[in-house]
Amino acid sequence: MRTPLIVLESPLPMRAPRLFVEHTLEAGAEIPLGGDQSHYLLTVMRGKPGDPVHLFNGRDGEWHATIARKDRRQCLLTVAKSLRAQTAPPDIHFYFAPLKKARLDYLAQKATELGASRIQPVMTRHTVAQRVNLERLRANVVEAAEQCGALWLPEVGDPLALNTLLEGWDTQRTLIFCDEAEEAHPPLSTLTALQSGPLAVLVGPEGGFAKQEREKLREQAFVTSLSLGPRILRADTAGLAALTLAQAVLGDWS
Ligand code: SAH
Repeated sequence: MRTPLIVLESPLPMRAPRLFVEHTLEAGAEIPLGGDQSHYLLTVMRGKPGDPVHLFNGRDGEWHATIARKDRRQCLLTVAKSLRAQTAPPDIHFYFAPLKKARLDYLAQKATELGASRIQPVMTRHTVAQRVNLERLRANVVEAAEQCGALWLPEVGDPLALNTLLEGWDTQRTLIFCDEAEEAHPPLSTLTALQSGPLAVLVGPEGGFAKQEREKLREQAFVTSLSLGPRILRADTAGLAALTLAQAVLGDWS
């Protein structure tokens, strides 16, 4: 008895590959891609002349383009028509004590997907990773933005000390301080009590916040302490949980 060959039809039309470019996007613009993006389109995605590509640059919205021509290593795109007008990102910053490489990559990607408009490593007393590879962080942010359909890239700030962050703080922005020592309190009631407006989320390192750091944070008028339930979450879990709650209650998910 012959085994039937079951061909899995992709349920959705294959989405066109999406790329972030620095160039201005307007009808008829010609965009030469660099080596990495050309490799991705031509080799990984097996692109050929005439194939569609969606482009965004954080300023001009999203545009439909096609592969105009390709040679061995380079690819030229021709921009055709606008698909989506530019929108502003949700005004929510994500500050986190840097983690080890793989989890930091993960955290940067997830914070981008969750809509953070700025991500910045904050060095605290118990921070383990002292050096942060910003180029790697930026590459993760670009990849996540291309994948999730964002029309902008989150800014990636240079690492800074917690005290420096607080000294330069724009007091119009509410800082949601994920405090593992906070009395367990329903996070939704904490967040729904906040005024809508510029937001930020801060999570600490695996070693948690030092006593003095916690005291300094709690005495700031712009800080709201947030409990993320009765268990101690790993820093990356906490960051994503807090961003999810903030977006759902106060951000662009509602
Ligand atoms: N090592 C510490 C926990 C650090 S968890 C201890 O055992 O106490 C890393 C970070 O995640 C914390 O600094 C905090 O910002 C956040 N976090 C983890 N669990 C949390 C919770 N239940 N509520 C609020 N924040 C939490």
